[in-house]
Amino acid sequence: MKNNYICPICEAKLTELDEIYFKCESCGLNIKKELKSDEITNDHLDYQEIIKKDGLTKFKMKLVKSLDPKRIGLLDIGTASGKFLHHARNEFVNVQGIEVNQACITFAQEKLQLKLVPSLSEIDFSQVSCVTFWHSLEHIPLELSRKILDDLKKLPVDAKLVISVPNSKSWQFKIFKHLWPYYDKSSHLYQFSPDALNLFMKSNGYKLRLKKIGLMYELFGYLQGFVNLIHPIPNYFYYRKKRGWDFHLTETKLLAYDIYNYLLLIIFMPISMLACLFSLFKNEGVINYIYERDL
Ligand SMILES: [Zn+2]
Repeated sequence: MKNNYICPICEAKLTELDEIYFKCESCGLNIKKELKSDEITNDHLDYQEIIKKDGLTKFKMKLVKSLDPKRIGLLDIGTASGKFLHHARNEFVNVQGIEVNQACITFAQEKLQLKLVPSLSEIDFSQVSCVTFWHSLEHIPLELSRKILDDLKKLPVDAKLVISVPNSKSWQFKIFKHLWPYYDKSSHLYQFSPDALNLFMKSNGYKLRLKKIGLMYELFGYLQGFVNLIHPIPNYFYYRKKRGWDFHLTETKLLAYDIYNYLLLIIFMPISMLACLFSLFKNEGVINYIYERDL
């Protein structure tokens, strides 16, 4: 398909990646052909699930604590259920979140007593020393992200920004393609590469300070990717356990699929753990980069 579109980050010409995305050969950004996303799907709003401190939450907490010794305040952009903020509240003097989904805002306010608001205009910037984007930047139109990054310049100059997004240049993406669990065509407007993310942040006045690898993100990417190659329903447990879907299947068939999925998880665990070693050689499935103001 011929097109005259240019990359919104580096202005190189875009070519076709697949039926959903264009790709930029220069910076590695993939961009959805139609910049529309479905209603942003969020974590399951289950109180018991949210108060559990799982491996991924521990990784996130350890990272922000190491970056921000003063721990004045944390602002989370794209808070979803509020799980991360709920746990961060024990470590930071103040926690605030931005979320656009009204069901999430109501849940976090009523069940978790968190401050969650739909826009930055309601945020108290004097109470923020660290900002996190856990898999939210790829959902937000770049023009809006530019505006958010500009507003965040009201923060103290040493404030840290943590950005976590799937890596479009990763081996995981090359191996699993559309069966990669982080390839979410319905809601990811972009798939960033390390270069695309760094260029975008640089053009908005931020410089890269640190990179971190989250082994839970890596293990999940490989393990779910391998299972998706075989199981008839990709990301089966996510929809079954987190969303409660029954796929219009009979109880017997669901039980069979459950058992099959557990078996595949056990079979693919060793190779997935081994594959995580590749992530350590700077080819991570998920980029976790820390930025600060470039003055
Ligand atoms: Zn580009």
